[in-house]
Amino acid sequence: MLTGAITLLSSMTASTFVAGVVAAGPFSPTEADGTIPDAEPLTLRDEDHPALARLDVDLLEALRAAEEAAGVDGVSFDITSGWRSADYQRWLMQEAIRTYGSEELAREFVATPEQSSHVTGHAVDIGSLEAQLWIMEHGRAWGLCQTYANERWHIERATTDGGECPPPHADARG
Ligand SMILES: [Zn+2]
Repeated sequence: MLTGAITLLSSMTASTFVAGVVAAGPFSPTEADGTIPDAEPLTLRDEDHPALARLDVDLLEALRAAEEAAGVDGVSFDITSGWRSADYQRWLMQEAIRTYGSEELAREFVATPEQSSHVTGHAVDIGSLEAQLWIMEHGRAWGLCQTYANERWHIERATTDGGECPPPHADARG
């Protein structure tokens, strides 16, 4: 009985998802949606790129100030994601559903367009482990915090300069 209910639920989710894809038509995100090529992360000087141009000004300024300090330690920040259009975020969610096989699992790793702080321009993803660790250790001096426990790369301005970072959410559902 329970198995039957679960099967029915997952098939409904899948058909709803397929209907959504058909209704949306073929979509492929471009630079105007904030895509950044995997092999070519941005620097904080690439301010003409939409992923940085549409970022929250306070976040961008905090990142720049932090990077200046990080430079003393020989660390620079490579930006693999910044602002994203809602269409791009929706597309990422659909890709994640394909990868993980269910919307429930996908939501642990990808926020919906309504919830994503990338869509509002309030988050960046940092590529290198060195930079991620540097920000985890020193970032709060500029209000920069890791806000998801399972995404070491995802940084938001989540406190005041020098304040305490709030405890990170467990994952993107948080
Ligand atoms: Zn992120």
